[in-house]
Amino acid sequence: DVRHGPILYLEDVSVSFDGFRAIDALNLTIDDGELRCIIGPNGAGKTTMMDIITGKTRPDSGKVWFGARHNLLTMNEPEIASLGIGRKFQKPTVFEALTVFENLELAMSADKRILPTLTAGMTPAIRERIGEVLETTGLTGLIHRPAGILSHGQKQWLEIGMLLMQRPRLLLVDEPVAGMTEQEMERTAELLTSLAGKQSVVVVEHDMGFVRSIARKVTVLHQGSVLAEGSMDQISSDPKVVEVYLGA
Ligand code: ADP
Repeated sequence: DVRHGPILYLEDVSVSFDGFRAIDALNLTIDDGELRCIIGPNGAGKTTMMDIITGKTRPDSGKVWFGARHNLLTMNEPEIASLGIGRKFQKPTVFEALTVFENLELAMSADKRILPTLTAGMTPAIRERIGEVLETTGLTGLIHRPAGILSHGQKQWLEIGMLLMQRPRLLLVDEPVAGMTEQEMERTAELLTSLAGKQSVVVVEHDMGFVRSIARKVTVLHQGSVLAEGSMDQISSDPKVVEVYLGA
């Protein structure tokens, strides 16, 4: 649902590595509050696209805007993150020796390398936010458990929770259900669906069943640009998409 126009806008973005065009005249618009899935074969440019949005990779040409006000090509990675763009990589990186609560508390500090004095400087607002995030992620019952004993799925939800602590406006999520059980995938679908609307969520995912279960709109990347875009039904009956996936 469109609320205030696009939250993310890429126009004619290209980047080459050693003469190879990993991203080739890419156009992408993500509306505020949208949940978008990005699919595409290996090497399609999905990771590079995420790297460009977060400022890790600088494109050779094109425009990348966050909302109407922020030209991301003039900003570095920490500045882009501070706008409220959170990225979750495929492999969970929670602090195993700390409890679920402490992990969430730690996520409040902008720089994860600086350990805040745990609990000492805790304000009621942080406590309240932790409570909300625990509820959203379904981890309330595990609040005092060390993160190291959580299941793979629970670690992934905790890491999403850590990103949510900062109230991001855009979440970029890389292959959230890789290695998950069927049940964990269902929980993850519920979680990501519940986040959309409050923030925009872009999910890169290979599992088509999962994509079908969450996405209203899917973008298919191929050779660094958009091959097709639409509902899962539109995408899966598109001859170009069928060819790319079956011809691979
Ligand atoms: P995907 O995530 O869709 O699998 P990537 O964005 O990882 O695709 O890669 C797109 C293409 O760009 C691939 O052919 C990859 O080998 C190449 N590529 C990505 N990053 C680099 C880099 N830093 N140096 C050289 N080639 C790269």
